[in-house]
This record gives sequence, structure tokens and C-alpha cells, in this order.
Amino acid sequence: MKLFSEIYGQNNAIDLLRRSLARRMVSHAYLFCGPSGVGKKTCAEAFARALLCSQATEDDACGECRSCRQAEAGNHPDFFKVEPDGGSIKIDQAREVQRRITLAPFQGGRQVCLIDRAESMTDEAANCFLKILEEPPAGVVFILVCIQPYALPATVLSRCQQVSFQLLPVSQVALILAGSPGIKPEEADLTALLSGGSVGQAFDLLGSGSLAERRKRLAEIISAIDSVGPGEACRLADSLSGSREETLSWIEGLMLWYRDLLIWKESENEKLIINRDFLPAIREQASRRKLPLLIDRLEKIEGARNKLSRNANPRLVLDVLFLNLCRPADLA
Ligand SMILES: [Zn+2]
Repeated sequence: MKLFSEIYGQNNAIDLLRRSLARRMVSHAYLFCGPSGVGKKTCAEAFARALLCSQATEDDACGECRSCRQAEAGNHPDFFKVEPDGGSIKIDQAREVQRRITLAPFQGGRQVCLIDRAESMTDEAANCFLKILEEPPAGVVFILVCIQPYALPATVLSRCQQVSFQLLPVSQVALILAGSPGIKPEEADLTALLSGGSVGQAFDLLGSGSLAERRKRLAEIISAIDSVGPGEACRLADSLSGSREETLSWIEGLMLWYRDLLIWKESENEKLIINRDFLPAIREQASRRKLPLLIDRLEKIEGARNKLSRNANPRLVLDVLFLNLCRPADLA
């Protein structure tokens, strides 16, 4: 569990929360909303810790007092978390919250209730929470965390102070990854680029252990693609086709690879290459291709990515892309 001072990124959200602590203007309910994997829950936990800390600085937890240690260990008696139970937050869970907040805080300070994936509340549970939020008990702070605020009843939304979280810049994702144990710098940069600004997505990519494998496969495909016929191109496309997300991730991979070829062709500067660990392949592939062809391929890949984001059929997008990629150089 982190302190505010240890979190990278989300400066707007964190500044807002730290200011409300410093001014002692804490609301009784917050709604943290934004895309998945960008630090909403990390910030919610840091905020909870600061609210509960017995020797907090003006706007952050100390990280050392009994309260902070209990929160870190997950056994602070005045900090309770609600998570979906089998896909949704149910009425019994809402009633349990209702019961607990009627008890006096064990440690005499505040009580904090973190509700993760709040949009998964059943209608009954949402009604029960609405009643709680309509008459907020003194000293209790609710933090609702959600990805899709529009899935919550407007009556609940209107009783929470909204705190928005954004996708992170690639550089920040890379920084967070680079600071994590067991991640190589070149892996951090590439994964950050493929993460779309979500640290959660980046760790998913790394956790699947498939990143190196995937790039090896890309190296083979790109090495072969200029010399195959349409039938073989479709077979290659077929070997990659999967869900929309998987297809998008392959297309992003192709894009970064052709970008590397283009940059190598223009600059021969190793430092600018993303797939640096595949430099011999990049060098060899770039030497076999003319500049206009590389530019044409990049445009085709970008076109495929745009089609995919406009809901085109992933399999079809890949087929058409590979047919374009295999066209002989002189036609490009
Ligand atoms: Zn503390």
C-alpha cells in the first residue's frame, strides 16, 4: 500500500485529495472514476491511510504509526473494503456496511469504507447505499471506485464528489515499470508503449510472459511477409487472429516494428530503436526495404488500427492488412 508521495502520475487527482486533507475539507463520499489500471485503487488506499493515520502530516499518511501499519496489513478495524461477490455487490454487503457504520470507530478517529467496482452494485444494494449517503454518518468517508460511472444511479453519483483519473503518459508507465522488481529497462519501455497508458494492462502483458515470444513471432513474420503470396499472407493473418484486444495488440506491435525499420533506415541510431534487443533483425530487414515502401506499410498498418477501433471485424482487418503488407515492393 502506497503513500501519496510514492505514487507516480495522476497529479490532478492526488493534488485535489491532498488539498482537501490540508484544508480539512474532506467530503463524506468520493467517486474515483477512470479507465482500468491507472491507479484509482492505489490512490483510494493512500487516501484512506491518510484519513486514518494517527500522526499524519498535513496531507499524507506517515506510513509508520500503528494505524498505518494496520491499514497496510489489511486489518485496520475502521477501514473496510467492499468488493463484488461473484460479479456484483449485493444487498447483504450493503447492509453489512450499514451495520458497521452505526458502531463507534474502534480507534476513535474516522471510519473509511472503500467500495471497489461500485458500478457492479445490484439495484437493491445501490438503493441501500443511497440511503446511507443521504444521511451520511459523521466521521465516515466513503470512497467508491469505478470504471463506468454512468452505470451507477444518478442519485448515488450526485451525492459523491467525483475525482477523475486519466490514462497515463507512456513515459510515466515506463517509469513505474522500471521501478518494479525484475523488469528490464528495454522491456519497460516497450511494454509501456503497448500498454495504452494503463499500468494494469502493462503488468498483464508482462505477466503473460508472452511479450518476448510475440516479438520473436513478429520478427519472423515481417522477415517473410515481402516474399509470400496472397494465400500464405492470409494464412499468417489467420495464425494471429484472436479477440479484438489481441488483434489490436498485434497491430500495435507491427506498427512499432515498422517504425523501427523506418527510423533505422533514416538514422541508423540504435538509441531510437524500440525493439533494440532485435537489432540484427531490424538492421537486416531495413536494408532490404526502400523508404517509400516502409512509409506505405506504416500507413496501411495505421489504417488497419483505425478500422479496428471503429468496430470492424478483427479477422477481416488482419486479412486485408496482410494482403497489403505482402504486395511486392514495386507496387507500393
Ligand atoms: Zn500513520
